[in-house]
Amino acid sequence: MSLLVVGSVALDTVETPFGRAVDALGGSATYFSAAASLFHPVQVVAVVGDDYPLEGLDFLRTRGVDLSGIARKPGESFRWSGVYSYDLNTRETLETRLGVFAEFEPELPPSFREARWVFLGNIDPELQWHVLDQVRAPRLVACDTMNLWIDIKRDALLKLLSRVNLLLVNDAEARQLSGEHNLLRAARWIQRQGPEYVIVKKGEHGAILFMPGSIFFAPGYPLEEVFDPTGAGDSFAGGFMGWLAHADSTEPDEMRRAMIYGSALGSFAVERFSVERLVGIDAAEIAQRVSAFRDMTAFQCHESMEAHAG
Ligand code: AMP
Repeated sequence: MSLLVVGSVALDTVETPFGRAVDALGGSATYFSAAASLFHPVQVVAVVGDDYPLEGLDFLRTRGVDLSGIARKPGESFRWSGVYSYDLNTRETLETRLGVFAEFEPELPPSFREARWVFLGNIDPELQWHVLDQVRAPRLVACDTMNLWIDIKRDALLKLLSRVNLLLVNDAEARQLSGEHNLLRAARWIQRQGPEYVIVKKGEHGAILFMPGSIFFAPGYPLEEVFDPTGAGDSFAGGFMGWLAHADSTEPDEMRRAMIYGSALGSFAVERFSVERLVGIDAAEIAQRVSAFRDMTAFQCHESMEAHAG
């Protein structure tokens, strides 16, 4: 029941009010695998240049991540740099250097083609399509995207959505894609394009899962210190998909639980620069945070309400 991710394995230069990291390990596939591998083995499809410090990914290997789908090509690795505002809620991309990513044609090793759980990280929707074409019988396909692709590859993205079970977007992307200001209407619009599940991420304010007959809300974990928000979305996706693959289920209760694991892993990711916090994390820390979510959100209806609710 393998879990496959395709996305970027990058070198990030990030500036926050608390410091700067230069050429740190980053990329959507890196963050995703760092989170998902805490629950389930992961297969990674990506490309890096000959300058990439692959030994930095050894921690993933020791957790059972199969890196044999990372092609190493002559040239520069994908580099992204960004700067965050004081409140860490907005970021500006300073530079995106594609390097070997510009010629990326993802080819799946034979064993990857049997993957049952698939996460199409934020890359060109045509490449996401090409990856999906190579997977024989996926059970659940989840997909991320960004404003860039909604702007310049809208038709390819809409075509892809008809083959996707779950779309993860932030609130601005949900509005941009659907043309609806209201998030509920935006999610319903996206569901009509194909995905039966839509997750709308709202940064530190949490994430909403829209299912065919119900909605579930996971708060963001309140942290006193956020160091670097980079990768929060991909770590959320990793926690979410890693849990589902581990549970081997898409029952509504497991989907809800996966939302909490996603939110927990997103919150760990932002506590340090790059993937630092996800490297040494242990099961007890995850369990504690998940139980804190339960304590923060569980409540009992007053008996007078139960009678009315029926
Ligand atoms: P997130 O903060 O979860 O949106 O993810 C940030 C990560 O996405 C960084 O580590 C970047 O290296 C990576 N990234 C940024 N822009 C792109 C892009 N256009 N294509 C692929 N990966 C990107």
